[in-house]
Amino acid sequence: MKKVHPNERTTLLLRHGDWEIIGVITAGAAMTKLTDDNVVGLDANGVMLPFEHWKNGEATAFPDAVYMTSAQHIWMIPSIAITTSNYSIQELDKKRQGPTTPNKDRLLEILGPVCQLCDRMFHKKLLTFEHIKPRCKGGLHHWDNVTLTCTFCNNQKADKYPCRTANGKILKGPPRPKHIPRMTNPKHWRPEWVSHIRKNQYGKMVINTIRKYHAKEHPQLLNVD
Ligand SMILES: [Zn+2]
Repeated sequence: MKKVHPNERTTLLLRHGDWEIIGVITAGAAMTKLTDDNVVGLDANGVMLPFEHWKNGEATAFPDAVYMTSAQHIWMIPSIAITTSNYSIQELDKKRQGPTTPNKDRLLEILGPVCQLCDRMFHKKLLTFEHIKPRCKGGLHHWDNVTLTCTFCNNQKADKYPCRTANGKILKGPPRPKHIPRMTNPKHWRPEWVSHIRKNQYGKMVINTIRKYHAKEHPQLLNVD
């Protein structure tokens, strides 16, 4: 058992039902959320336990479990918490709208290194930010008005609007980027998170990073698909 400061990120918060990852929260936030009836902690036996059990030290701890202390109490911190609270889900939906200012790296993640006019693949350095409705015609620097084009197409397009792609479709902005949960420093990820993270859409990226940091200490993680 290891004592932690309330502001250390210790707990993977999941949404009940689809086990979607909401994020990694601090020990203090984990205990605060547990006092909410809609949040439970998952113990090492796979049992979902409410606040009382954690407060009274009745939950079965994972190896290397963490705890906080107050003047009179020792608080065991669940390393996985599950919420059915609408509040948390609304918070997640808000974050899902993603960053408000478009940037090229996020566009590359969403669209791939592909010119959206000629549909050919380029090195990312040869792709440029394209404003679909040109800025000189009042187009804004918003997600729904930006895309990626190669330098040739960018020059060809100039201030044409609306503009058609090589396939004859009207050039449109990308789908709005999704929120990627803040996963804290991978060195601090815990092995028991793996089976939950692998169910998630970010699973592959996360698993590879976990392997990189934990393979020596936890060789069983190498067997995870
Ligand atoms: Zn092009």
